[in-house]
Amino acid sequence: MITPAEYVREIPAHHRLEAGRCKKCRKIYYPARQVCPECQAREFEPLSLPREGKIVTFTVIRVAPSQFSDQAPYAMGIVEVQPGVRLLTQVVDCDLDKIEIGMPVSLEFRKIQEDGEKGVLAYGVKAVPR
Ligand SMILES: [Zn+2]
Repeated sequence: MITPAEYVREIPAHHRLEAGRCKKCRKIYYPARQVCPECQAREFEPLSLPREGKIVTFTVIRVAPSQFSDQAPYAMGIVEVQPGVRLLTQVVDCDLDKIEIGMPVSLEFRKIQEDGEKGVLAYGVKAVPR
């Protein structure tokens, strides 16, 4: 069993907040894509996103898909980290009633789900209000 902190140290570069910017139309995608939905170009350059942003909109999930049912209710938010670059993440470590549009958040690596059969832990970014 490894702790989340240990896991983050071992995390490969593609699990960091690395986005891809289309070399043709300059649109930024996170996670990075193979093909740009805007212009169909296939060349991207890596770009590290800021680890802080603000909540643009959010929703509270009260009936969750089965693999997340033990976490409900929880909040999902769209976080803007720089103009035009938005991430959909869970908003954690706060009272659901206190979440507001415009709230500043930090993006931190957290456990997303645990696959009991394979013992695999999936990590991703979650938004933590500052
Ligand atoms: Zn493009």
